[in-house]
Amino acid sequence: MPRPLSIGARWALRYTAAVLVTLSLFSVYVYTRVERRIYQDAKLLLDLQVKEVVEELRHEPGDAKSLDAYLRQHIATGESRLDLGIAVFARDGSRWLERGSLEGRSLALPPELLSGQDGSVLHDAELGADQPHLVLAARTPEGFVQVAISRERFDRSVDHIRNIFLMALPILLLLTGGFGWLLARSSLRPIAQMTATARRISGARLDQTIPTTGSGDELDQLAATLNEMVVRIRESMDRMRQFSADAAHQLRTPLAALRSQIEVTLEKERTPEDYQHVLTGLLGEVEMLTDSVHSMLRLASSEAGIEPGQRVEVPLAALLDTVVGFFEPVAREHGVQLRKGEVPDVRVPGDPSWLHQLFANLLHNAVKYTPEGGCVEVDGRRLDGRGVVVRVRDTGVGVEAQEVPKIFERFHRVGARQEMPGAGLGLPIAREIARAHGGSIEVESREGQGSTFTVELPVVEPAPPGARRDERERPQSVTMR
Ligand code: ADP
Repeated sequence: MPRPLSIGARWALRYTAAVLVTLSLFSVYVYTRVERRIYQDAKLLLDLQVKEVVEELRHEPGDAKSLDAYLRQHIATGESRLDLGIAVFARDGSRWLERGSLEGRSLALPPELLSGQDGSVLHDAELGADQPHLVLAARTPEGFVQVAISRERFDRSVDHIRNIFLMALPILLLLTGGFGWLLARSSLRPIAQMTATARRISGARLDQTIPTTGSGDELDQLAATLNEMVVRIRESMDRMRQFSADAAHQLRTPLAALRSQIEVTLEKERTPEDYQHVLTGLLGEVEMLTDSVHSMLRLASSEAGIEPGQRVEVPLAALLDTVVGFFEPVAREHGVQLRKGEVPDVRVPGDPSWLHQLFANLLHNAVKYTPEGGCVEVDGRRLDGRGVVVRVRDTGVGVEAQEVPKIFERFHRVGARQEMPGAGLGLPIAREIARAHGGSIEVESREGQGSTFTVELPVVEPAPPGARRDERERPQSVTMR
């Protein structure tokens, strides 16, 4: 396949084509104007000649001898290159005298003059081989006068101008093409740099950035956008790497424990009861591992964001009713009182199953980390802006001050609570879900006194009265990570 033309070459060609069209039109216009002007000057010259002959005829009417002498002298003193010729006719059109280049030519008068038209008629005539002349025939009080001059001088001037244009056009086009190409190349140089940097950027070298000039022009904006994209890819790859490392680390310890338990059991013959006891223990641990893997997958997919198709307007109060209802039996079993307070009647744009998971994780922790006789309460309030806040408060064990910033990290579990079931993924998942919905989670906790988790989410503004129903139902966009 032939190599495609570079953008610079294409720009230069287009530029040259545009200049070719403009210059050609301009040249044709100037050429025709100048040509017309030159032949107007020629006509003026002929008019002057006619006037002088008419003047002479008025002074010496009917005197053929003196007219002949005048014409001979007039033609002899005139510019020889004009090749002047003069003929005088009587009123009936009969030729009286002809001198100069018209002598012996018997050039007929234009029929329109003979048929009574006033004024003068300009026409071309060949006087001899290849001797084009301009001829002006005019009606005079005494008859007609015919004056001829050679076209040669005028034609040459017109040809000269045409040649100037024909010669200048290719030179100008060459210069335009050359300058166009140089200009295009210098304006496209940043693109070549971007391409070179983009080639260097690979999975392992995402720290490279495309240079920006700081001019803020389109190419600078493109470079900045590409750099932002690379940063996002780098962050997402870092998260993936961190996640795989965390997941491997998290699974390695329980798997090693499983393995050593199996090895110890196999070291010697055991009774069927012993085997049953060990296998039951192993099953419990495998179930916990399965839960961990399930949570990891949930976290990975929450980090990937929400499918746009899954987003609807979720009624918050109804959603919280369902989640609280789901945890009531568990709370009762733990001897914890679970209450639902006031929740504003708002709709949150998002995925109902993810939002369910977010509040379920918080309630699950609240019930899990609240000892018997404690209390868990869920309520909400509207924010002044376009949002809502949901609080999950408990009177549970709380978190030590230095641990509070870490509890949203993956697999982080507070030391003293390691014996509780869990994988340290409930809060990271909840935070990712809140982020994917354009919201956030904060925590306030005091050790031994309880914790308050505050979830802030955007809401769908109520449609103004009269708005179409389908418009109201369309889910709002959710900021994705
Ligand atoms: P898990 O509960 O599986 O350990 P989470 O990510 O849900 O994992 O929570 C991380 C840690 O934060 C928990 O180990 C626990 O120490 C602490 N935590 C979370 N919620 C509460 C709460 N309501 N009260 C006290 N501590 C909590």
